Amino acid sequence: MVHHDPYKIWLYEIIMQQTRISQGTPYYDKFVKRFPTVKDLAVAEIDEVLKLWEGLGYYSRARNLHYAANQICDSYDGKFPTNSKELQKLKGIGKYTSAAIATFAYDEKIGVVDGNVYRVLARAFGIKDPIDQTEGKKKFEMLAQDLVDKTKPAIYNQALMDFGALQCTPKQANCAKCTMKKTCVAHDKNLVGSLPIKSKKLIKKIRYFNYMVLEFKTKTLIRQRIEKDVWQLLYEYPYLEDTKSTNLTRSIINNWLSDYLGYEGRFRWKNEQKVYKQQLTHQTIIGSFYKVELLAKVVPSSPYKLIDKISFDKHAFPKIIDCYLNDNSISLFK
Ligand code: SF4
Repeated sequence: MVHHDPYKIWLYEIIMQQTRISQGTPYYDKFVKRFPTVKDLAVAEIDEVLKLWEGLGYYSRARNLHYAANQICDSYDGKFPTNSKELQKLKGIGKYTSAAIATFAYDEKIGVVDGNVYRVLARAFGIKDPIDQTEGKKKFEMLAQDLVDKTKPAIYNQALMDFGALQCTPKQANCAKCTMKKTCVAHDKNLVGSLPIKSKKLIKKIRYFNYMVLEFKTKTLIRQRIEKDVWQLLYEYPYLEDTKSTNLTRSIINNWLSDYLGYEGRFRWKNEQKVYKQQLTHQTIIGSFYKVELLAKVVPSSPYKLIDKISFDKHAFPKIIDCYLNDNSISLFK
């Protein structure tokens, strides 16, 4: 990926974070086509940006892209900052992304440290400092900075990242055919499988969402997730959360309709649920879906709204909702 347009480099780097290239490439192509310039992205509605991002996960990246596009238009006259320090003032751009944009777009002499580079440096130099601790990160950044080729920094950085992605891979490093094997500390000391080191163990919590699929004639009730939580600004069905697996009952639904929608009419439902699971980095979401048919009209207020099924395609939903919808034959993917 060597080209020199900072906007496209930024899009590419953000989309590819925690994403396989084969999965991220179609998203990158869609974004470049729909938003060819940073100004096009800035003036777009956030709902459209999230819709285009749908299925890629880590939605804060999409929200930050949109926010930063507006920062660039408002504070930098629509032009990207031209150095890594200034780039870090933009939302969602940290050390890695700022270094990548600065070196690939402007040939800044800065060492780019992504997951691939951590791995190569940890193994080649036998560094045992954890890569998820501040001290360890500093050590790797300083080493990367010392090593960067000052005459061709962009080519050097790209080569090191590619070397980690293709040669010194996480599980099956190709040491037998490696040009560095004579000097590589990890290869010499049989540490290839244990470097780099991470100190933190991910603690995952399980959350149970009991979704109510509330339908009135051809319409369905959805809500936007406005709270600071996973899937912020995406849409979903209303739900009740629990820390353990529980079932909805008629009286729970009745109370919810009254408390949240002011609905006192009759409704039909069968105590049948469809259960789906979505794995996020720090949490597992177990979603149980219950269909409820409202027999009188409901007039919801924000963040709730009643929509026709045909306008589902205009809203971005978390994957767990997409799975339920696809099982119910509403295709969200064109
Ligand atoms: S010898 Fe093996 S561990 Fe060392 S840099 Fe090469 S591929 Fe990576």
